[in-house]
Amino acid sequence: MTAGGAAEGAAGGAAPVPPGAAIGILGGGQLGRMLALAAARLGYRAHVFCPERGAPAAQVAAAATCADYGDEAALDRFAGAVDVVTLEFENVPVAALERLARRVPVRPGARALAAAQDRLAEKKTMAALDIPAAPWARIDGPADLAPARARLGGDCLLKTRRLGYDGKGQARFAAADDPEAAWRAVGAAPSILEARVDFAREISVVLARGPDGRTAAWDAAENRHENGILRTSLAPARIDAGAARRARAIAERIAEYLEVVGLLAVEMFAARDGGLLVNEIAPRPHNSGHWTLDASVTSQFEQAARAVCGLPLGSPRRLARAEMRNLLGAEAGEWRERLADPDAKLHLYGKAEARPGRKMGHVTRLLRDGD
Ligand code: AMP
Repeated sequence: MTAGGAAEGAAGGAAPVPPGAAIGILGGGQLGRMLALAAARLGYRAHVFCPERGAPAAQVAAAATCADYGDEAALDRFAGAVDVVTLEFENVPVAALERLARRVPVRPGARALAAAQDRLAEKKTMAALDIPAAPWARIDGPADLAPARARLGGDCLLKTRRLGYDGKGQARFAAADDPEAAWRAVGAAPSILEARVDFAREISVVLARGPDGRTAAWDAAENRHENGILRTSLAPARIDAGAARRARAIAERIAEYLEVVGLLAVEMFAARDGGLLVNEIAPRPHNSGHWTLDASVTSQFEQAARAVCGLPLGSPRRLARAEMRNLLGAEAGEWRERLADPDAKLHLYGKAEARPGRKMGHVTRLLRDGD
């Protein structure tokens, strides 16, 4: 520890966590790996806490704790070994964050995490802020499904409130479908039913917010999903300047309301009439922000380190048009072909097992005129 205690000053009043200090990262995946690498470039030591041995982030961190998120003794030792804690994984139990926060600043905090890890809390956050989202209903059992679908109309999606990602924990639910089967398909877990949106495109805004409340947002990215998994992100999104401004304003309002210090990603549906509906939020680096590593002045990972340490935020200015493509499963084996393209930047995450659909790496192409 180089900085003292968990006491946060008044907005912006806390002293920065200086280079040389240790940044604790909850979660050991690729987001933590790229964050640890960016933190190291600024002279910080990354200490990763995650349950898996040899995780992608732990491979490149100065220190790693391999323990369960419910292991209180391990959490206490971790809190004593780091100067600030952040997260790369949004399903860390809120109780773990609260325990850490008694001893060390945790950024973002429990408020943001709680809103992001439960789809019901997420929808209620949007409602409280008067921010549009797809029409939805709370589902606590199969009997709730038919009346909710009748009220929402059309095809719907059943989504578990918790632990869904990359399209997992989701099932279609149309008028002719069997409620019991849909309920079983999501593991009979508390869920929400959501009307299917006929969107023109999906976009996301990633922004950083410092302890003083200042924000910096990158250009919105345009995202294409396949089977619920992000396939490509194009930056900037093909939306007009007014929509881009509104998207950014929405992300700023959510970040302020949730008192985010660090990063916030907001995924939105851009409707054909120009309206924007928030789909999901994540208070961490985001897959749709990977292009910033190679095509902006300050990457989302460097910016996360700056924001959680209370350093001045860097410029989010985009330096080129860029397209990021995820390498899923066996596609990681395409590294030779990817490297043969001189305008491509390859990132591999050090994952040993290439399971189908698993995010193994990504490649960002800096686009030229006419691309
Ligand atoms: P999610 O896990 O909620 O982000 O969903 C993954 C992907 O499924 C989204 O990025 C969309 O492509 C699609 N999707 C989710 N919800 C809806 C919806 N209400 N209407 C249309 N497509 C959706």
